[in-house]
Parts: sequence; structure tokens; C-alpha cells
Amino acid sequence: MIFHRLVLALLMLGSAFVCEVAAEDSSVAHERKVAPAVTAEIALAPDLHLLCIGAGAYVVRHDCPFLCNSVLVEMPDGTFVFGGTPGFPEAARLVLDWIVREHGRRPVVAIDSGYHFDNLGGNGAFIEAGFPVYGSDLTVRLLAERGERMRAHTLGFIPDQSSPYRAAHTALRFVPPDHVFPIGDGLTLRFGGEEVRVIYPGPTQAPDKVAIYFPGRRLLYGSCMILAGDRPGNLAEADLDHWGDGIRLLQPLAVDAVVAAHGARLDPGLLQNTLDVLAGHVASAGRAP
Ligand SMILES: [Zn+2]
Repeated sequence: MIFHRLVLALLMLGSAFVCEVAAEDSSVAHERKVAPAVTAEIALAPDLHLLCIGAGAYVVRHDCPFLCNSVLVEMPDGTFVFGGTPGFPEAARLVLDWIVREHGRRPVVAIDSGYHFDNLGGNGAFIEAGFPVYGSDLTVRLLAERGERMRAHTLGFIPDQSSPYRAAHTALRFVPPDHVFPIGDGLTLRFGGEEVRVIYPGPTQAPDKVAIYFPGRRLLYGSCMILAGDRPGNLAEADLDHWGDGIRLLQPLAVDAVVAAHGARLDPGLLQNTLDVLAGHVASAGRAP
């Protein structure tokens, strides 16, 4: 136990060196670059971790109970930008508390990557704290039309009636984004000269998934449209005819790290991996009787 605490303390100490953006260096672009490797891990709860992948850049890993990644990036003006959100507002609140504890009060902006719980489940915490939440018009519509169907689908994967995650998914209040943009237009936000681009590459794993690109750090959060494993996962609303086209649209982007919603891999090869997994799935589906 003591050893465990020591390791955790060392990890947290380590994060102070590799994750912090030095104020005097904040205008130097190369200081903000990311790498597809975790240099420090900060535990906020047994099921919630911040994984540092560059100065001021984190993967927020929430096991709820499925492994769900969002990203958190500290911009040059001090704003913290969430790409996607943790699955529940309680988890999002823990990240907001960490920001205040480690950095003081900061502006926070969240960008929903779709209407599924793993793309916007934390919204309630941001809205409650008075922070803007951006999301597409299609996400707002699908959350209203299909939110309860999505909840039932999710609960189907947690058969254990006594699971606290089952209770959390049952109780999750769906809160839509309050800053809505037309999905076809995408969105560009700027913070202290650094840009964040929200890109809609057409229907992929679901009709409304968007990718969130930080060109200044060559970081792409592809949410659920990027496949990090060898299987396609939840295809309930997937558009297999157009998903690959969407990924090919993202391939020209300059990236050093790519974050998928589910899985541990962070390298740019995830774009090709997604195409390969989809091709394999279509081929095996074609062979099925
Ligand atoms: Zn997902």
C-alpha cells in the first residue's frame, strides 16, 4: 500500500515536469507537441485517469465500465479544452476539480464528439459550472430522438444488476450541448492563437460523430470513428458504406498522435488500422451464409 502510494506520488511528481506548460514557453509551438506515448499517469479515481501525452495534453481515460477516452488540452491562453467528455458528470467534475487544484480557476470549454454517452455524458458538470459545451445540431436531435434507445442498448452490455455502473447509466441525465453548430459546417475555435478544429467527415460509426483536431500539436481525437483494436465494436448505427471515406478524409491531416474513444493505442497508424478493420469486417460479413 505504501509502495503503491509512493509510485503514485512519483508519477504525480513526474507529471509536474512533463505535463506542465511552462508559461514562458507557451508561445513555442514545439513545446506543445504530443507523442503517441504516455509519459505520466495521474489517478483521479480508481476508474478515472489522466494520461499525459505532451505538455498540457492528456487522454482522459474513464472505465465506465467500458474503457472510454476523451482528451483534455491546455491552450496557450490558459483555457482547458475537452474533446469529448468522460462518461458521467461525476467523472467530469473530478477532472474540473483537478484543474482548479493544480492550476487554479481556469476557463473550460467542452466539445461533444457525438450523442452517445461516451461522447457527452459529462455535459451536466460543465453546464452546471457555467462552462460552454459545443456540439452539432445533429447531436442535439439524435440525443432527443434516440437517447433512451442508446441508454437501453448500453444497459444491455451490463447484465450485472448490482453493478454501480448499471445504476450510473440508469441515472445519467442526458444534457445537450448549449453552443450548437450546423454539423456540415464543422467548427473552428481559437484560444491564445492556437486553433481547435471540429471536423465532420460524414457518417461513420454513428451519424453524428465528429473528430476534434489540434493542428498546433498534431493531435487528432477521432472518438468512436477511430478503431484502436482489431474488431469494429458497436455497429448499431454505423454507416459501413461511408465510414471508410470519412477516415480517408482525415488521413492527410498532420498528426503525431491519434486518440480513439476505445483502446490504448495512440499512434497515427490508427487511421489505417480503422480502414483495415472495416475492410476485414465487410469481407467476413460477405462470406457469412
Ligand atoms: Zn464509443
